[in-house]
Formats: sequence, structure tokens, C-alpha cells
Amino acid sequence: MPEEPCQCPDCQRFYREHDRLIRESPTLRQQQELSWAALQAFRTLSGRVLEDLQKQHGARPAEATHATPVGPTEEPADALHQAMADLENINAHLFSIEALMERIFDVRVPEAIEQKFRELAGELAPDPLNADRLRLNRLLHQTPDLPDRS
Ligand SMILES: [Zn+2]
Repeated sequence: MPEEPCQCPDCQRFYREHDRLIRESPTLRQQQELSWAALQAFRTLSGRVLEDLQKQHGARPAEATHATPVGPTEEPADALHQAMADLENINAHLFSIEALMERIFDVRVPEAIEQKFRELAGELAPDPLNADRLRLNRLLHQTPDLPDRS
């Protein structure tokens, strides 16, 4: 028997978001645009926060780059500089991801293939408010001790 997917609130939120992204962007072109916009939004925002922190607090001191874990006496300034170092890392990684992503964004496929994308998107992530889907969900979630209604 296949393992049941986890149903904790975090995972459920992920499934919902995952399906929504398929449903609302059901073509290759739309998935490309969506991923690109998400990446750029992430870069813009975290880059701007880092810039602002650096302006306010100056670049982090050199010793923060190889700081050993600090105990409860840790100064708030250390936490701040650690956060700035983390943000710098994130921004560097986002930059690398952008370079990788550029390679998959130039691809265009014929309309027949885009139609295939739409078709399978509808199967993978059907509209949760669709009447057939609601009926199916009710069937799937019928408690076992209820009499079979078929
Ligand atoms: Zn989970």
C-alpha cells in the first residue's frame, strides 16, 4: 500500500498552493513566467532589506564571517550581523538560480504541446470548487461504517 501523504497543516498548505499554481498557470509559458516573477520578487525584496540593513548598521564586521555559535550572552548585534550574513548568502544563491533558470526560459513549444500541458494540469489539479470534484471528495471521505450508497 502506498504511504499516505502527510496531512499536517504545513503539508496541506503546500498541497493547496502546489495545486493552485498548476491550476492557475497550466502552460509551459505560464509556468516559466510564474517562476521568473517569483524569483525576481524574492531577489528584489531580500536584496532591498539587506541594502537597508547595511545602510543602517554598516557592513558586518569581519569576525562575524566565522563566528562560532554563541551562548545566551549573545549580543543582539551579533544576531543582526548573522542575519545579514545569511541574507548575503541567500542573495548569492538567488543570483545563481537566476542564471540557471535563464536556460529554461527561452524554450517555446508548439501550441499542441501547450494544449497537452493544459490537459494534464486539469487532471493533476482540478478546480476544488468544481462540482465533480466535490462529489468525488464526498465519496472518498465517506466514513467506512456508513452503508455503501452505490
Ligand atoms: Zn506534513
